[in-house]
Amino acid sequence: MKMSRLLAPTLREAPAEAEIASHKLLLRAGFIRKSTAGVYTYLPLGWRVIRKIEQITREEMNAAGGQEIMMPVIQPAELWQTTGRWELYGPEMFRLRDRHGRDFCLGPTHEEIITELVKGDVRSYKQLPLRLYQIQNKYRDERRPRFGLMRGREFIMMDLYSFDRSPAEARESYDRMYAAYEAIFRRCGLVFRAVEADAGAIGGSGGTHEFMALTDAGEAEVVFCPDCAYAANTEKAECAPPPALGAPSPSAPPPSLLATPGARTIEEVAALLALPPARLLKTLIYKGDGQYLAVVVRGDRTANEVKINNLLGPFLDLRLAEEDEVTALLACAPGSVGPVGLPAGARLAVDSEAAVPLPFVCGANQPDAHWRDVTPGRDFPLTLTADLRLAQAGEPCPRCGAPLRGARGIEVGQVFNLGQKYSEALAARFLNEAGKSLPFYMGCYGIGVSRTMAAVAEQYGDGDGIVWPLAIAPYHCVLIPANVKDEAVMTAAAALQAELEKAGVETVLDDRAERVGVKFKDADLIGFPLRLVISAQTLAQKTAELKLRRTGAIEFIPLTETVARIRLIMEGN
Ligand SMILES: [Zn+2]
Repeated sequence: MKMSRLLAPTLREAPAEAEIASHKLLLRAGFIRKSTAGVYTYLPLGWRVIRKIEQITREEMNAAGGQEIMMPVIQPAELWQTTGRWELYGPEMFRLRDRHGRDFCLGPTHEEIITELVKGDVRSYKQLPLRLYQIQNKYRDERRPRFGLMRGREFIMMDLYSFDRSPAEARESYDRMYAAYEAIFRRCGLVFRAVEADAGAIGGSGGTHEFMALTDAGEAEVVFCPDCAYAANTEKAECAPPPALGAPSPSAPPPSLLATPGARTIEEVAALLALPPARLLKTLIYKGDGQYLAVVVRGDRTANEVKINNLLGPFLDLRLAEEDEVTALLACAPGSVGPVGLPAGARLAVDSEAAVPLPFVCGANQPDAHWRDVTPGRDFPLTLTADLRLAQAGEPCPRCGAPLRGARGIEVGQVFNLGQKYSEALAARFLNEAGKSLPFYMGCYGIGVSRTMAAVAEQYGDGDGIVWPLAIAPYHCVLIPANVKDEAVMTAAAALQAELEKAGVETVLDDRAERVGVKFKDADLIGFPLRLVISAQTLAQKTAELKLRRTGAIEFIPLTETVARIRLIMEGN
């Protein structure tokens, strides 16, 4: 490939819309371009990376017994209505109607389609295990598409579905996929960790793990134990219950009203009263299914919407109530809300740490005032108490008690042991060895292919551009002639490129009539792992200059040995 022919429109500055490093770099290096919110075109360099991640994924899925298929993007509503997910998916699902008035969606996932397919064509345990996968665009109408390929509305996924005849064999499929995922992400060069997770809208009974690419730009928080293998998404991580404290003291003073002018946040109230935030109660008003729900957690904790949904729901589209909704419900702003004397229409759920018989300070449901000496159970009802908060670093590990550590990550893959949820709903059955008809035991497994590219760019970005791992770099090598007007240099460069290509080293010849400094900047920005320079000086010594993008190390290699040296670097990688 010649650089003059390659559509790689690099930019000196990142567009203002880009918030995180990977988004900025992929735009600046000319890998992607935005079409509309959350929807992108992959330019030649970006598409080459995607194809390489796909290929690694294919190799590992095939080695784990997968067979590749291609299912439709357009899916009929009836199948989704049968499993109840037409409603459950809510506004995240892209819906459309055809000219006959029939409803469809753009597939956010394919459990329904594949279960229906297998139901029609697989009858006997002799055909199991069956592992089918595809690599395809998926669609989710995100409320806030952002961070480029991280949270898009159209994205590329690999999804595999396993069908087994028993829970033990389903577990074996799960373990093989788990191992294959580790191999895929290792080969892509990602630093990652598998964590216990919540099953969300996919559901299923048998557990699920997320594969997290660790980076501070990640939207997900994870906790992990330094002493045992426990690691979980903070949404999923179990919080240990507080120590039992018995009944409140009968002599405990009754609540009294405090003036707290202007203090609205937990921090402001805590500072005003000189109390630690743990002595305050935080009350949040949520709305879902048209109902209001008040959730109480300690002032130093964060409410966990996943746990709230799992306890009460599933709510459709659970969200924090808007300020005007809170004001209409309680005649005060969200910062003054408290659990004492809530109107009958609002349900109340209390985190177990906020349900202990100790005196707390909380909002008084009127402007500029808080209650002090409010005792949970005495001053507001504890009809619904559960673990409803996000786990935090420093809390005890739920397995061994050691203090948990925290990290942030990007979810690049998830594996689910589904049990019989979909096969039961869609009556997909097989005959076992004893001639008995049973619903299939299923698993589903997804890898965000486009998101993996972004996660690698996030982990491997530096001030100058992207430092692609060789395995998924768009090209292995850029070859820069120092002077394109020097015929001897151009002849030698063309000969070397041909030799490199023949040896399987994907090489771009930067034949543009640009200054060498501009070419070096572009080479670093695009992130070719290897950079070769040929000049009149190197030719005089019959050498080429080789620079490794990752280390910056430079060496001069005899031209006759250049290909062998590069092959050696690639094989050692
Ligand atoms: Zn532990």
